[in-house]
Amino acid sequence: MLSTMQDVPLTVTRILKHGMTIHGRSQVTTWTGEEEPQRRTFADVGERATRLANALRDELGVDGDQRVATLMWNNAEHVEAYLAIPSMGAVLHPLNLRLPPEQLVWIVNHAADRVVIANGSLLPLLAPLLPHLKTVEHVVVSGPGDRSLLDGCAPRVHEYEELIADRPTTYAWPELDERSAAAMCYTSGTTGDPKGVVYSHRSIYLHSMQVNMAESMGLNDKDTTLVVVPQFHVMAWGLPHATFMTGINMLMPDRFLQPAPLAEMIEREKPTHAAAVPTIWQGLLAEVTANPRDLSSMASVTIGGAACPPALMEAYDKLGVRLCHAWGMTETSPLGTMAHPPAGLTPEEEWPYRVTQGRFPAGVEARLIGPGGEVLPWDGESAGELEVRGPWIAGAYYGGAAGEDFRPDDKFSEDGWLKTGDIGVISTDGFLTLTDRAKDVIKSGGEWISSVELENALMAHPDVAEAAVVAVPDDRWSERPLATVVLKEGATADYEELRAFLAGKIAKWQLPERWAMIPAVPKTSVGKFDKKVIRKQYADGELDVTKF
Ligand code: ADP
Repeated sequence: MLSTMQDVPLTVTRILKHGMTIHGRSQVTTWTGEEEPQRRTFADVGERATRLANALRDELGVDGDQRVATLMWNNAEHVEAYLAIPSMGAVLHPLNLRLPPEQLVWIVNHAADRVVIANGSLLPLLAPLLPHLKTVEHVVVSGPGDRSLLDGCAPRVHEYEELIADRPTTYAWPELDERSAAAMCYTSGTTGDPKGVVYSHRSIYLHSMQVNMAESMGLNDKDTTLVVVPQFHVMAWGLPHATFMTGINMLMPDRFLQPAPLAEMIEREKPTHAAAVPTIWQGLLAEVTANPRDLSSMASVTIGGAACPPALMEAYDKLGVRLCHAWGMTETSPLGTMAHPPAGLTPEEEWPYRVTQGRFPAGVEARLIGPGGEVLPWDGESAGELEVRGPWIAGAYYGGAAGEDFRPDDKFSEDGWLKTGDIGVISTDGFLTLTDRAKDVIKSGGEWISSVELENALMAHPDVAEAAVVAVPDDRWSERPLATVVLKEGATADYEELRAFLAGKIAKWQLPERWAMIPAVPKTSVGKFDKKVIRKQYADGELDVTKF
């Protein structure tokens, strides 16, 4: 028999209405670079989102599931777009402003975006693309920037503030199917064309609830979260919607993402939480080591998107800031795991749990698949590819305006699980430890070497700022590790010293023979180590390699 419960669709509209009323006093604070940041209550943001929805419908004719893209920093207007666009039934499409221009063009055309809302400071990036954007009819500009860059462009240009001024403060929000599209993000296309993941209202609603559970980020209206992770990187890890559910105050850095302004923001505004990839925390650590600032308001920091080096976690412990490791993907909305140790442990006992990728929440089922396709036990030793499924995990990629959605064999199993491409082990008590991405693992003489393990060990050396290890071809072993190292300013460690440092921690046969000092590790558009670039630099003979 069916249940006797009400069948109420789980939609972003409900999140908007809830946040702007029940949590109307919570705030979105946006850094402006001026003495005073911009401060707006959730009630204001909700009302402005409602006026934006009216403007998009009445002035720009946005209808049905049309795509409205954003090319924006993290700020209050971007949150307004996050709430308005899905709630009116259209599809929000945040664009990654660090992608190469040709990829942005490809993505906008593939998604068939009809409107782009852009920050004025990003017009130098947008303007030259416009002649190539086949479906864009309107550009809406918000914040400071040179409007003359859009002179003579084909799409109609609107001023954000003028557009939403004098619009009604109510909207007859449609009753949406919770399975319908609310937002989309493209993977950053490290291999092949970018792939579009389309989130539903239901997936966003359930994911937001999970973000707010104590076993995940566990925040409420007494907290302020510093959202460093860009709103174009997997929906800022779900924060702009999760915050409206429980009234978490938001601190938005806008374009001030350099370590010095971030440190100032933290000291002045005292956020209790923050979220960003490891490279941001590496940069901030170097900054506060040189120019001390009080970061200790941040009781917890969510760090993920790439493996967190244990040495980084240790350094922040000393500053009174607890980094909590999380794993996820564009395809997983992104929350997949978070590393809160089990209850009742001493700090020493907690440590081995904290450096794992963490535990799966109830909404994410996981399995490990071995080389022969067999399901592996959770014994902390059997390493295989991680596969996941659940209500906020992608089941296919967007096929584009003309095409069917698609499920490539290397990304989805026959029985519908997402193949993550990540290799790891799961302990008997359910903690995931990733050893590598399948494409980064070093296959040396039939054995596997984890590039992440070597990097973590190297980054524990006091002279090392960053280290990236990649596989390079080797006549005898097929592949061997190449260690590329960035030394801290003024540091003097040489290869002999670094090799000796590793020798105590890593099996001898895994020690790299090839070494190169580099000025900086190349980064992807979302700030992860770009190993593809290092492999190419090596192949092209651009690195000054020392061989032992
Ligand atoms: P891209 O694949 O383009 O980098 P995503 O942001 O979707 O875009 O990346 C997801 C991948 O990032 C995961 O499959 C995994 O390899 C890596 N990743 C994310 N979080 C972690 C983590 N905590 N530890 C190790 N790797 C991580």
